[in-house]
Amino acid sequence: MKSIAIDGPSGSGKSTVAKALAEKLGMLHLDTGAMYRMLAWKADAAGIPNDDTEVLEKLAGRLQFSIEGHELRESGAPLPAAIRAQQFAKAASVISAIPGVRKEMQEKQKDLAIRYSLIMDGRDIGTCVIPETPYKFYLDANVEERARRRYEQGEKTRYTFEEVLVAMKERDTQDMNRAIAPLTIAEGAIVIDNTNLSVQETVDLMMEFVEAKDAL
Ligand code: C5P
Repeated sequence: MKSIAIDGPSGSGKSTVAKALAEKLGMLHLDTGAMYRMLAWKADAAGIPNDDTEVLEKLAGRLQFSIEGHELRESGAPLPAAIRAQQFAKAASVISAIPGVRKEMQEKQKDLAIRYSLIMDGRDIGTCVIPETPYKFYLDANVEERARRRYEQGEKTRYTFEEVLVAMKERDTQDMNRAIAPLTIAEGAIVIDNTNLSVQETVDLMMEFVEAKDAL
């Protein structure tokens, strides 16, 4: 089954381009960040603190993800819109550094990649989840531009631009420096800095690469 890996820091446009590519290529998009956010949301709802590693590992093991139509579901239900809040991005970044949590999530992601033809976006897709795929991308953009995108996407109503920028830098540091599966460029990945590119230009570049690989 064909799988495409897209890694990169938050705000680099991974999910947006993954959706567009999935449509063009007739594949499904799996936003793996949403899986970590879902765990963070569930933990919060159950009053489990972010440092209770044992309970968080168990909770991660109990999550049941499936893809229905084009939608990621957990235990058969759509993921709540609330997982998009900055609070859960921050919590996801903390709990995704717990080894047992990562192991559970990576297993679930690998399993989904066996069952479906997926475009997966995340932080460790090309390095750990589907390292065998020949289709690997690393998207990037400068941190001010990434923060501006997040701010425009909705954080505007709750936070100042400065606050979004500070939170983004914190998350970059956490995701790039953790001991397991840190955000890094996978071997063989095509790096695209889209600071000055439109979504369409980024998608076009990626399509060219996929078609070139297919032609080999
Ligand atoms: O992609 P998104 O910003 O929604 O991800 C939220 C957090 O989940 C990230 O900051 C990162 O710490 C974690 N994550 C991860 N590995 C992935 C996807 C997300 O560690 N494959």
